[in-house]
Amino acid sequence: MKHRVLVTDTLAESGLAILRAAQDVDLDYRAGLKGSDLLRAVSESDALITRSGTAVTPELVNAGERLRIVGRAGVGLDNVDVDACTARGILVINAPTANIMSATEHTMAMLLALCRNIPEAHASVKRGEWTRPKFMGIELSGKTLGVVGLGRIGSRVTVRARAFGMHVIGYDPYIAPTAFERVGAEQVSLEDLLAQSDVITVHTPLTDETRGMIGADDIAKMKDGVVLVNVARGGIYEEKALADALNRGKVSGAAVDVFADEPPGKDHPLLNAKNIILSPHIGANTIEAQDRVAVQTAEMVVEALRGSIFVSAVNLPFEGLSDADAAPMIKLSEKLGLFAAQIINGPVNRAAIELWGIEERLTKILSVAALKGVLTPFVAESVNFVNAESVAENRGIAISSTTHPTPHDYTNLITFRAGSGTEEVCVSGTLFSEKNQRIVSVNAFRVEFKPEGHIIYIINKDVPGVVGKVGTLLGDREINIAEYNLARGESGGKAMAVITVDSPLDADTINFLKSYREMEEVKQVKL
Ligand code: NAD
Repeated sequence: MKHRVLVTDTLAESGLAILRAAQDVDLDYRAGLKGSDLLRAVSESDALITRSGTAVTPELVNAGERLRIVGRAGVGLDNVDVDACTARGILVINAPTANIMSATEHTMAMLLALCRNIPEAHASVKRGEWTRPKFMGIELSGKTLGVVGLGRIGSRVTVRARAFGMHVIGYDPYIAPTAFERVGAEQVSLEDLLAQSDVITVHTPLTDETRGMIGADDIAKMKDGVVLVNVARGGIYEEKALADALNRGKVSGAAVDVFADEPPGKDHPLLNAKNIILSPHIGANTIEAQDRVAVQTAEMVVEALRGSIFVSAVNLPFEGLSDADAAPMIKLSEKLGLFAAQIINGPVNRAAIELWGIEERLTKILSVAALKGVLTPFVAESVNFVNAESVAENRGIAISSTTHPTPHDYTNLITFRAGSGTEEVCVSGTLFSEKNQRIVSVNAFRVEFKPEGHIIYIINKDVPGVVGKVGTLLGDREINIAEYNLARGESGGKAMAVITVDSPLDADTINFLKSYREMEEVKQVKL
C-alpha cells in the first residue's frame, strides 16, 4: 500500500516534485485545508506536511489514526504541538539547516548596508537630493568583528567577514577550540569580545541564558561608536538598552532583523532609535532557502516513511545522528530485544544493555532500539524510536546501559538482558560486517546464527536422537530448514537448537514438537 502524504500549506514545486516522483507515495496536496475537511484528510494520511498555516493541535494529532510523521517545512515549531505528537509516537521533522546561507548573507547585507548608510542614501536620492557628505560610511576592512555564537551561521559569517579583511574574535562556550581555528576566529571571553570589537554580531539561539545576555552594563563595556547586528533572535540584546545606547551615540549603528515580539508595536523603542536599519525577520526569505526547505522536508518525510531515522527530527530521544553507518548496529540491537521478548516466558519488566567496543555516542540509540524490539511483541500500540522510552516507562520498565572496551572474541558486541519476574534472558550479537549480523550467544549457550526470518528455538535434554526427530517431523510437514544451529552445555545436560525455517510452523506442529519427552521449551520466533 502507498504512503499517503497530506500537504496543507503551499510548498515550493521542487518539494512537491519529490513527493510526486516517489512511487510509494500518494500525494494529497490541498493547501489551505481547514476544519472538518482537514481532520478527515489527516485521519486518512500517514504523513502531514505543513508550513505555518496549519496548527498541529492535540485534536488534529488524535484524528491522525495512521499518522506517523509531521513534517514542518521550516525551522520554527510554534504551530506544532510536539508533545502531543511524541505521546502518539509521531515523528516531527523540520528543516533547520535550509536557511543557514540566507541568514548568513542577510547578516552581511545588513552590516554593509548599515556601514554605508544605504537605506538612508537610497531614500534621499529618491527624494531628489544629492547630499554626499551626509552619507559618510566606514569600511569593514581592518576592523575587529566580535561573533557571539560560532555555530552554523556564526562560523559562516566569520569566513565572509575575514574575506572582507576583518579580524574576527569569537565567544562560544559550547564548542571546541578547533571550531574557532577551522574558520579563523580568535577565541576570547565575552568580556574581551565586548571590549575589543568594532562590530558585534550575535548568532546564538534564544535561550534562558541568551535572552537579554547583552544589556546596558555590557554595552557600557564596549568601545564608543561600536556597531551591533542581530539577525538571530529578538531579545538577545536588551531592546530598550540598545535603543538608549543608539540615541546617546554610544552605539553608532545597529542592524536588526528580529524582535522579541513580532511584529514590534508602533511605539517600540528600536523603531525610532537613531542610526538603525531594520528588516521584518527576512533572514531566511530567499527563493533558494524556500526551495531547500521544501526539498529537505519532502526528502526526509519520504525517507522516514520508508523507515529511516536518519532525518532531522526534533522528538527522537537521541541527538546528532546523521550517519547511516550506524544503521546495521541499531537494527542488530532491535533484533536482540525482539529475540529476547519472544523467548522469555512472561512480560518483560526490566532491561539492560551492555556495549563492548562500540562508540559511546551510540549508547542511547542502541538502548532505545533494544527497548523498541523487546516491547514490540507485547504492546498493542505501535512502538517506534519516538515513543519506545515512554511506552517502557508507562510499563515501569527502565533500561540501564554500560559500555566497555573491546571484548576478547569480537571487535564489537551488544549484550541485551531482559527480565520477567525471576527469569532472565541474555542475548548477545555482533556485526562481522555491515550486512553480517550474528547472534553469538543465548543465555549460557554459544551459537552463531543470522537474526532473520522464521526461527524455532528449542531447549531440550541433551540425549541422542533429538535432531533426527525434529528434522523428520519438519520434513514430513514440508517445512524446509535453512539453518540448524546446535549448542550444548555439559554432555548429558541441556542443549539448545536454533532452527531457521523457510515458513512459519502451525500450532499443531509446535505442539507436536513440545510433546516429545526430551523437549523443555519450544518457541517460535520471528525476526
Ligand atoms: P547553531 O545552533 O548552529 O549555532 C548557535 C551557536 O550558539 C552554537 O554554536 C552554540 O554553542 C552557541 N551558543 C549557545 N548559547 C550560547 C551562549 N550563551 N553564548 C555564546 N554562544 C552560545 O544555530 P544557527 O543555525 O547558527 O542559528 C543561529 C541563530 O540564527 C538562531 O537563533 C536562529 O534561530 C537564528 N536564525 C535567524 C534567521 C532569520 O530569519 N533571521 C534565520 C535562520 C536562523
